[in-house]
Amino acid sequence: MEKQGIIIKVSGPLVVAKNMEGARMYEVVRVSEKKLIGEIIGINGDQVSIQVYEETSGVGPGEPVYPTHQTMQVELGPGLLQSIYDGIQRPLPLIEQEAGSYITRGIDVPGLDRKKKWKFSPIKKTGEKVEEGDIIGEVEETTLITHKIMVPPGMSGTLKDIKNGDFTIEEIVAVIEGDNDETYEITMLQKWPIRRSRPCKVKKVPNVPLVTGTRILDTLFPVAKGGAGCIPGPFGAGKTVTQQTLAKYCDAQIIVYIGCGERGNEMTDVLMEFPELEDPNTGEKLMKRTVMVANTSNMPVAAREASIYTGVTIAEYYRDMGYSVALMADSTSRWAEALREMSGRLEEMPGEEGYPAYLGSRTAEFYERSGIVKCLGSDDREGSLTLIGAVSPPGGDLSEPVTQNTLRVTKVFWGLDAKLAYRRHFPAINWLSSYTLYMDNLKDYWKNNISEEFLGVRTQAMSILQEEAKLEEIVRLVGMEALSPKERLTLETAKSLREDFLFQNAFDKVDAFTPLKKQFWILKSIIGVYNHALKVVENEDFNFDDLLKLPVMQKVAKCKEIPADDEERFKQLWDETERSILSLKI
Ligand code: ADP
Repeated sequence: MEKQGIIIKVSGPLVVAKNMEGARMYEVVRVSEKKLIGEIIGINGDQVSIQVYEETSGVGPGEPVYPTHQTMQVELGPGLLQSIYDGIQRPLPLIEQEAGSYITRGIDVPGLDRKKKWKFSPIKKTGEKVEEGDIIGEVEETTLITHKIMVPPGMSGTLKDIKNGDFTIEEIVAVIEGDNDETYEITMLQKWPIRRSRPCKVKKVPNVPLVTGTRILDTLFPVAKGGAGCIPGPFGAGKTVTQQTLAKYCDAQIIVYIGCGERGNEMTDVLMEFPELEDPNTGEKLMKRTVMVANTSNMPVAAREASIYTGVTIAEYYRDMGYSVALMADSTSRWAEALREMSGRLEEMPGEEGYPAYLGSRTAEFYERSGIVKCLGSDDREGSLTLIGAVSPPGGDLSEPVTQNTLRVTKVFWGLDAKLAYRRHFPAINWLSSYTLYMDNLKDYWKNNISEEFLGVRTQAMSILQEEAKLEEIVRLVGMEALSPKERLTLETAKSLREDFLFQNAFDKVDAFTPLKKQFWILKSIIGVYNHALKVVENEDFNFDDLLKLPVMQKVAKCKEIPADDEERFKQLWDETERSILSLKI
């Protein structure tokens, strides 16, 4: 290995080295004789600051630094799915085999298996013209997902040769002759620098919802496919359960799950549990369409910093194949803390709460990699990447910098609320503080695919819930008696909305997922009671108990038990609601 730099200072994960002329920002270097993996994050004359992705104890001044002339990249190709990686794409189970359960330092384990053979089936023929992004062949990566082998960005020309058969990812499967006589040898392995987003033809306006099956999310605060959302919540409010429910039920084809170890063994739990999760649609293991990036808490902070870029680059790669991809990062606060720690060691001028001034721009750079895109290639395919980041603000204080910077760039806010979790109302998403800015874009989807009435019913439900908050205040001050019958009706309806619609048990196989149509039907049933009752509550001889005792009220409360395809039963329920309630008039 070429020897160049000399270490002059070591401070935790930060190493400063001199004699590093010619070094470039974000170049990967190997530090000391132990060959620890590091990345250059600051240059000052011939001195560089290196963020080291491995434990630096025992490394000291005078030791060498070896340049690699490469930036931090991920390997892209068949074999990504079902993998569990650390922040710099070293496969965790493999590292374990090589080094025991504590990762020893400086070991090189490639992200993708070099020996495994994959069956490559060509879909283009010799002589055909191809351009960057074109799909030239396919590999059955898992029983759930077909991996598309694409012409890497920047290459185009005529196919001189294309193979058919079993190959490793390093063997040549096609040869392209470029228009200027250059020759490109295509393998199933591509590499891409993690800090640069992968190119696409054009980003489109997101106008299709990411269906999650969670009623409060889909109906009240939907995120679009290709959108970005944020789940802030204090410890124990349900960030992890929400992210995992999303991973399991949302209608994205590929899931990338980035776990930044929170406390002690939490990540270990996720690592044990996630591979056991079943894909509810196929009954197969969810891992067959999942890539996990995990930082356990015994890994150095710097690897956490890299992990979100590693994850998002892998996610973009599957987006480029034309898949809808959803990436969950849990939690980005740990990532921001890693930034803060490095910034402190670099002795940079601290911004708010000690976070570096560039926290905002780094956060934006990450979320801007979401989108629904026209992929490179001549076949006009589309792919989408939805980013969902959990944030864990200390003490639940949403005014802290990580939450604020995230809210500035994401358009959906699902605010988890400790009070709701304490009352065991799950998902503990606060319906008063949460919001979505995608509704305008998604309106037509609901209108055309679900119902013309959907938006009206949704608006009514939201205003009833808001009204409830105001009325509760009055009740606290002067008691129930002060309320008019109409106000009491609002309270009853809000209660029903909370208990029969918003409450959803993520651990109940049937309740965990509600299709969009059924979400609308349940909501319409509850709002139907309200609208019909409005016509009778103002009557002089109206008695509230008569309304509550109607048998149809029980049926509405249980309507989520009606099978999702039984529209007829819902229609009968709506008729019965109208008849029963209006009969109270006489
Ligand atoms: P966090 O990641 O915010 O610290 P968790 O996701 O671990 O919190 O949630 C804490 C607990 O709350 C879970 O163990 C579970 O018992 C309960 N919980 C959270 N969300 C739900 C849900 N949607 N349905 C049922 N229980 C839930």
